[in-house]
Amino acid sequence: MLKLQNIGKTYQTGTFKQVALKNINLEFREKEFVAILGPSGSGKTTLLNIIGGLDSYDTGDLLIDNKSTKNFKDEDWDSYRNHKVGFIFQNYNLINHLSILANVEMGMLLSGVSLKKCHQVAKDLLEVVGLKEHRHKHPNELSGGQMQRISIIRALANNPDIILADEPTGALDSKTSIQIMELIKKITKHKLVIMVTHNEKLAKTYATRIIKMQDGKVIKDTNPISYAKNIKEYKLKKTALKLPLCLRLSLNNLKTKKGRTFITSFASSIGIIGIALILSISNGFNNQIKDFEQNTLSSMPIIISKQAPNDTVSLTEEDNSSLDSNFLHPLKEDLDNIHYNNITADFLNYVNNIDSSLVRGLAYYHPTKFNFINKIKENVKLINLDNELISLPKLMDNETSVIATKYDILKGKEAIKKDELLLIVDEKNQVSQNILEALGIDNNTQDIKLDDVLNKTIKLVFNDDLYQNIDNYFVINKDLETVYQNSNNLTLKIVGIAKLKEEYVSLGTTSLLGFTNDLLKEVIKYNKNSEIVSKQQEVNYNLITGEVFTLKEDKDSWLSSLGRESMPEEIQIYPKDFLAKTKINEYLDKYNQDKEKENQIIYVDQAKMVVGLSQNIMLAISLVLGAFSAISLVVSALMISIIMYISVLERTKEIGILRSLGARKKDISRIFKMEALLMGVISGILGIILTLIILVPVNQILENLTNLKNIGLLNPWHAFMLISLSAILTLIGGLIPAKIASRKNPVIALRTE
Ligand code: ADP
Ligand code: MG
Repeated sequence: MLKLQNIGKTYQTGTFKQVALKNINLEFREKEFVAILGPSGSGKTTLLNIIGGLDSYDTGDLLIDNKSTKNFKDEDWDSYRNHKVGFIFQNYNLINHLSILANVEMGMLLSGVSLKKCHQVAKDLLEVVGLKEHRHKHPNELSGGQMQRISIIRALANNPDIILADEPTGALDSKTSIQIMELIKKITKHKLVIMVTHNEKLAKTYATRIIKMQDGKVIKDTNPISYAKNIKEYKLKKTALKLPLCLRLSLNNLKTKKGRTFITSFASSIGIIGIALILSISNGFNNQIKDFEQNTLSSMPIIISKQAPNDTVSLTEEDNSSLDSNFLHPLKEDLDNIHYNNITADFLNYVNNIDSSLVRGLAYYHPTKFNFINKIKENVKLINLDNELISLPKLMDNETSVIATKYDILKGKEAIKKDELLLIVDEKNQVSQNILEALGIDNNTQDIKLDDVLNKTIKLVFNDDLYQNIDNYFVINKDLETVYQNSNNLTLKIVGIAKLKEEYVSLGTTSLLGFTNDLLKEVIKYNKNSEIVSKQQEVNYNLITGEVFTLKEDKDSWLSSLGRESMPEEIQIYPKDFLAKTKINEYLDKYNQDKEKENQIIYVDQAKMVVGLSQNIMLAISLVLGAFSAISLVVSALMISIIMYISVLERTKEIGILRSLGARKKDISRIFKMEALLMGVISGILGIILTLIILVPVNQILENLTNLKNIGLLNPWHAFMLISLSAILTLIGGLIPAKIASRKNPVIALRTE
């Protein structure tokens, strides 16, 4: 079964050479109990280690089932140890941080036996040695005898052919020693047992053959083999540490060192926290900017008014010429910089044909004046609201209202029909005295109930009912009571009260009265044919004041204000969203193609000017802080590397045990890599959790500073990436220690305490 041919072994420590074995020739039977006796230092352990494939021989050959091991690779030895031999050590060599059950199962798991089967076999074996109840205990909770029994059944678990025991009773009292010997004898009946012992009495009682050694040589053999039996050649089985076991081992180790694991993960999570914070805040800021763009800026209308800055002058271009600051200077009116938009019927048509899916609403500002009249404290008064009227945008079909996105409706509803008005209050809920008076509300009252304003009415009088023609001059009818009672009048009602949303307040608020486009159409419809308008077109002086018009424009604008049909003074286009706005801009630009400069229409897009800057600043800050965090990540990887190295040193013994059970170098390195990976994942997750916790006060502070809610927002995708990054970095940090661990010589590893 086993044959040693001229085995020699010399240890070299520095320049000192220690010959441990000299020309050993031995052959063992398939079934026998061999005791090896000899003084300390005679080479017994070395012999056993060589037989067990833990140590290598220098000269000669070891034949296993007639197969030479001269050309064995590491993996072959690993497999041999795992399947063919079981070791029993004097000091038990159990893995302390694993349970009894896990210790017994280890060899089987290393050889790829399923967990279920392992459990079964291990439990059965524990039953045999009467320690089943103790299976969840850890080795240091057992007595020496109990530990040795565990180590014996561990050696037997993979059902090996050879049991190698190095002074198995060396640390036990004589009574326990006998029990252990009985156990070994009982359960190894059909195996080859080679036992090193000091105890000649035990050897004589239990062994079938006694070999005596001295100075690395066999000096006596009581039962040598005289003939060789032909046996089948030894076939190698592969061992492989499966990932779940690897994970279990690493997790177990981390668990036994909870404190250290936590502190290390905490320290190495700092880099992750840094990056996560930066990412979440810059992410949040970008989101806010995007929101701002999409809500605030996109709902800022594209404005086409009579005058626009000439687009040949870049808005960002600076005038570098400086003027003497000790003097005042007349402003040079740069007419080139102003473009006069000629809003024609053609253009109006063009605007009205915009793809309605892009537009939320359109507002037209007409110069037409409204004649308002109301009864205030029993007196009928004409009311001028010219400065407080605002044209509400005309909504496109199925569109959410511009009003709804820009204003909060405090009471009532939006004004949609021609006889409906919307009262808009300022940010402090203030309403102008003029509007209050116009609605017949006592403006001395401090707190006006919203309900008292809702449904208040005001009358609109058409020109013909208001003006009287007296000798080709027009005056306002003195009998205002009659004017007020006229059934032609339109009665307009406040149907809603609205307030500009908080995010728009910076754009400036005043109290206003919003009217619908339909009302404007109605007024023009009647007033364009009114007497004052038709008469005014015939003469070149103002029919009310008598003033003579010197410019045609003056007459035109006066006529427009009286209600003659005219082009709007200003058009505001409210885009549906940011993208739509770009498309509308493109659409408007197309109008100017092939047109002479003077016929082009230049619009103003306020939103365009605001965007862009803040994002760049954020990016710069992120980059700087990101660099710092990246450094701290590298530092934490180094730290983990050092801690892993310490762990390797601490676990040298465990490495030796695992190797003696048949773990490959690869497996050892895998365990440590897995541990590093786990540490990385733990610190990554810890970092993310801490970031989320830190973000709470950070967001509070940022909210106090900027008024923006929830700026710091961690993108789940970023969180995932950071955990992966942490795992990868610590894995890299663990590579070298893992390599060191896997290179440990199993014999030396087993000797360390
Ligand atoms: P025993 O088990 O019979 O007491 P060993 O096999 O342990 O003896 O040791 C045999 C000789 O080899 C001793 O002189 C010992 O000092 C030496 N030896 C054993 N292992 C090593 C080693 N790893 N490095 C150097 N010398 C060693
Ligand atoms: Mg020894």
